[in-house]
Formats: sequence, C-alpha cells, structure tokens
Amino acid sequence: RSRAKLYDQRKERTTFDDVAGAEGAKEELQEIVTFLKDPGRVRRLGAQVPRGVLLVGPPGCGKTLLARAVAGEAGVPFFSITGSDFMEMFVGVGASRVRSLFEDAKKNTPSIIFIDELDSIGRKRGAGLGGGHDEREQTLNQLLSELDGFEQSHDVIVMSATNRPDILDPALLRPGRFDRRVTIPLPTTKARLEILRIHARNKPMAQDIDLNALARGTPGFSGADLRNLLNEAALMAARYDRKEILREDVEQARDKVLMGLVRQGLAIS
Ligand code: ATP
Repeated sequence: RSRAKLYDQRKERTTFDDVAGAEGAKEELQEIVTFLKDPGRVRRLGAQVPRGVLLVGPPGCGKTLLARAVAGEAGVPFFSITGSDFMEMFVGVGASRVRSLFEDAKKNTPSIIFIDELDSIGRKRGAGLGGGHDEREQTLNQLLSELDGFEQSHDVIVMSATNRPDILDPALLRPGRFDRRVTIPLPTTKARLEILRIHARNKPMAQDIDLNALARGTPGFSGADLRNLLNEAALMAARYDRKEILREDVEQARDKVLMGLVRQGLAIS
C-alpha cells in the first residue's frame, strides 16, 4: 500500500485564491485544470496535454500549495509523496511505494500525483555518493518507468516540485516526462501584501498595523516566512496576554524571522 496522503477535496479544498501572487504560474496551470475537469472534452478537440509538470522555485513560495490548488480547482483527488521520505529505506521499498502511488492514482482518475522535493530522489545518477545510493537509484528508475508506462488514456497528471532543477537527472526532463516547467518566484511587494492579508485573516490586529509597510519592509521573504512572521507575532501577543496583536509584536516577529534568514545566508542584515 502506498503511504501517499489523499486529501479529501470536499473537506479541505485549496483553490487558486489561497495562493497569493504567482499569477504567471496560475495562468499556465489553468490548462491542466481545464483538462482534469473534463479530460474527454479536451481530447475530443485533439489537444495535447502535458503529463508531467515541474514546479520550480525557492523554498516556501507555495509550490505545494499551488499543486493542491490545481487539484482543488479541478475537484480531483491529490496523491502526494515527498522525495526525502524515500531516503532511509530498505532497498526496494521506495520503488514499490512509487508503484503503488501510481496504481492508486490510476484507480481514481482523473487525478493528480504530487512529488515534493523531487531532487532528493531525482538527483543525477552515477554520482557515486555511497549510502542509500542503490535505493535512490531504484526509486528513480521506477519513477521513470511509471512516467513512461502511462498511456494517453490514463488521465493522471504528475506534478513535482524542486528548488534545485540544476541537479536533476536529465532523464526526468525528457519529453513525455517532466517536460513542462512552471516557475514560482519569491513574492513581489504586491504579492507579499496579499500573502500577509491571507494569513492575517484570522488574527485580531491593532488598527495601526500597516500591512502595506510590512510588505515593503520584507524583501526576500517567502510566503512561508511571512506566514511564520504573523504566527510569531500572534504568539508574542499571547505571551503578553493581549487581546490583539500590537505593532511591536509584528516588529519583533519580523526581526526574529529576518535573523533566521540572515543566519541561513538568505538575507542581508
Ligand atoms: P518547499 O519548497 O519548502 O516545499 P513550497 O514552495 O512547497 O515550499 P509551501 O509548502 O506551499 O511552499 O508553502 C508553505 C506555506 O507558506 C504554505 O502552506 C502557505 O501557508 C504559505 N505560503 C507560501 N507561499 C504562499 C503564497 N504564495 N500565498 C499564500 N501562502 C503562501
């Protein structure tokens, strides 16, 4: 059995509205949504639909969120698995897990398979890195053969995400595999404002908090960083037993998240 998580889209439906910014990516993915909603109609018109889509971009910018939103928009099941889950397994386990993931998806068409952190199983082969290498290679080979084994009639779209497209095995990127690349960049100032608004929805805030200014003051922050910032601010307010989040909580939270980014070399102080 596959350990893929199956999200029930009726209960926790994610849509494009939950993803701020990334307009270009949403536009490109709209054709996948159209296909999944009614594969027969698209086929009758003779259109070619991509099988595999690679989402590329820095961590925390919404790749997973966007993949889920495609499933949510189309109203189809979403089977997901994370590349690094395969790392500490016995030889053969990863490959069989990939096989059952594809089986599950094919039984529930139209559907989406999502492979997060594709680079952890999809790194270039033959790099001779020792430990876990055979396992990784077997898993990758299984993935390649599943991608090839798809018949045109299967109505499964395979999406994957990586922030390191440069280290992927070129075999993964050949036509018929992950041959469509969609980029999700770090959010612009405008997108940061939208992301802050989304994550401020359920948080009572003092009136003098200016999300516009906060968006301007957080260049280089990812969506995940911004969510983290507001969450830290809420925790800070809770610690002081406040009824709402104050400006100073937001400022402290911003500095805290920023320090973390500086430490990781992701931002300049
Ligand atoms: P990773 O590469 O680390 O897996 P990712 O790009 O897949 O990251 P997500 O896991 O989708 O990013 O993002 C983490 C969380 O950050 C999301 O669940 C969401 O709450 C928030 N987030 C990130 N980007 C956005 C965005 N564009 N709009 C709204 N929320 C966002």
